[in-house]
Amino acid sequence: MLHVAVVGSGPSGVYAAQSLVQQTSVPDVRVLVLDRLPCPYGLVRYGVAPDHEKIKSLQNNLRAVLEDERIGFVGNVEVGPGGLRPEWLRTHFHAVVYCVGAAVDRKLGVPGEELYGSHSATDFVSWYSAHPDAVGNGFALEARSAVVVGVGNVAVDVARILARGADELRPTDVPHAALGALAASGVRAVHMVGRRGPSQAKFTTKELRELGALPKADVAVDPAELTLDPAYADPAGLPAVNRRNVEVLRGWADAEAGEGGTPAERRLALRFFLRPVEIVGDGAGRVAGVRFERTLPDGRGGVRGSGTYEVIEAQLVLRAVGYRGSPLAGLPFDAGSGTVPHLAGRVLRDGAASPGEYVAGWIKRGPTGVIGTNRPCAKETVLSLLADAPDLVRRRLPGEPLEAVRELGLSPVQWPGWLAIEAAEAALGASLGRRTVKIPDWAGLLGAAGGR
Ligand code: NAP
Repeated sequence: MLHVAVVGSGPSGVYAAQSLVQQTSVPDVRVLVLDRLPCPYGLVRYGVAPDHEKIKSLQNNLRAVLEDERIGFVGNVEVGPGGLRPEWLRTHFHAVVYCVGAAVDRKLGVPGEELYGSHSATDFVSWYSAHPDAVGNGFALEARSAVVVGVGNVAVDVARILARGADELRPTDVPHAALGALAASGVRAVHMVGRRGPSQAKFTTKELRELGALPKADVAVDPAELTLDPAYADPAGLPAVNRRNVEVLRGWADAEAGEGGTPAERRLALRFFLRPVEIVGDGAGRVAGVRFERTLPDGRGGVRGSGTYEVIEAQLVLRAVGYRGSPLAGLPFDAGSGTVPHLAGRVLRDGAASPGEYVAGWIKRGPTGVIGTNRPCAKETVLSLLADAPDLVRRRLPGEPLEAVRELGLSPVQWPGWLAIEAAEAALGASLGRRTVKIPDWAGLLGAAGGR
C-alpha cells in the first residue's frame, strides 16, 4: 500500500488527494492530508470573500473528497519548526506532496508603508475571513476615503467589501466583530488604482462586473485614463479576458457620461496609469493619502514615469499587489520566484529530483490562476508521483503516523473535530440571529473541536 502525506488542505492539497485516490495504476493508496489550522479548505475558507457564496460552496466538493475512506484529515499540525519536519515526513510516508500555498503578502517598497492606516490586503482578508492568526480590529475603518493599490482579484474583493453595506454582509459567515466594524465604517470613497492600463488589469471580468452591481455604490472610471491605453480604442487583438474587461469599463464610461441620477452612498473609482511612490502621513503617524506618479504606456506592455504626480487623499490604504511563497525549513526554495524548484511537481534538490517529495499549487507555480487551475496542476504532480511509486513503496514504514504525531506531543484535530467546529459555528450563528458565523480565534476553534 502506498502511503502519502499531503501538506495543506486548500484546493491544491485536496485536488492532489483526489487525484491520488481516483487513479488506477496503484490500486491501494492511503492519503493523510495535514493542515496547520484545525480547519480544512485553505484559501477557500480563509481567502474567498464571504459574499462569494457560490465560490465558497466549492467547500462541499472539497468536503466530499476529504470524506473518502482512503483519505484522512489531520488539522492543528504544523509542518516546520516546532512541528513536523520534512525529514520526519519522508521517514513516515512513502511520498509527501507539499501544497502549502503562498501566504506572505508583497510590499510596495515605498516610504510610509508603516503608517497607521496602511495595511496589506492579505491582513484585511484574513480578518474578515476569521483567520485565527488575523490581527484584531486594527483597520482604520473610521477613514472616509480608502485607496486600494493593485487591480487584481484581491483588490476587487477588498474594494467590494469596503463598498458593501452591513445589511449585505450580515447573511454571510463574516465574523461578528468584523461585521460590527464594517457596519460602523466611515468609508464613502474607495479608489482602486492600477499602475498600468485597463487592458493590462489582472482582475477577471465576472469579478469586475460585480462592482457595477453593488447596491450601495456607484462605480466611476475616468475616460481620459482609459483612452491613454493604446489597446482601448481597438481591443480586438487582446486576450479574451482583457478584451471583455475593456468592454465593461467602456460601458461604465459611456453610462457615466449620460448620467444625472441621485448619487449612491458610496463611490468606487477605478483609476489607471498611476504608480504609488509614497504613502503620505498627516504628521501624527497616520495615513493622509497616497502620492502617485502618472505613468504612460512604454509600447512594450510596461509603463514609464511621466514626472507628474497626484495625491489621492485617503486615511486607509490596502495594498493588494500579490502574494509570495515563503521558504519551509528543510525544503529547497527559489527566493527569486518564491516557489520550490521542481520538475513536473518533483521537488529538485541541487537540480536532481528528490525521490518521494513533490509540490502542487501556488508553492509550485506561484500565486496565479483561479481555484480550478489547481486541479490540472495537482494532477501533473500526482502523475509524477505515481510514476515513481513502484520504487517508493518498497521501503518499509516505521508504523502508524498519527500515533507518531501524538508521541511528538502534538494535538491533532481529526475530521470529527472539524465537524464539531462546523456545528459550533452553526450554533454561534443561530445565537446571533444569523446563519453560520465563523469562529475567529484559536481558543474558540480548539475548544469547539474538543480534542477530537
Ligand atoms: P494579481 O492578480 O497578481 O494582481 C496584483 C496586482 O498588483 C496587479 O494589478 C499588479 O500590477 C499590481 N502590482 C504589483 N506590484 C505592484 C506595485 N509595486 N505597485 C503597484 N501595483 C503593483 O494578485 P492578486 O490580486 O493577489 O491575486 C492572486 C491570485 O488569486 C490571482 O490569480 C487571482 O485571480 C486569484 N484570486 C481570484 C479570486 C476570484 O476568482 N474571485 C479572488 C481573489 C484572488 P501589474 O500587473 O502591473 O504587475
